[in-house]
Amino acid sequence: MPKVTVDKDKCNGDGICVSVCPVSVFEMQNEKSVPVNQDACIVCRACETQCPTQAITVEE
Ligand code: SF4
Repeated sequence: MPKVTVDKDKCNGDGICVSVCPVSVFEMQNEKSVPVNQDACIVCRACETQCPTQAITVEE
């Protein structure tokens, strides 16, 4: 099962991951991205590649 991690110190709260994830893994909470729906991740890596601060790590 994929593991999606957001480094809260790096997250700038722009919400790009919320926009690019095709299966709605992320939700904004207190202006930080939280991977609330990791089980749905299809490991497309759109979040990893598009996050401008490299805050997201996806492990298969
Ligand atoms: S790898 Fe793809 S499916 Fe998984 S959390 Fe990132 S954008 Fe969503």
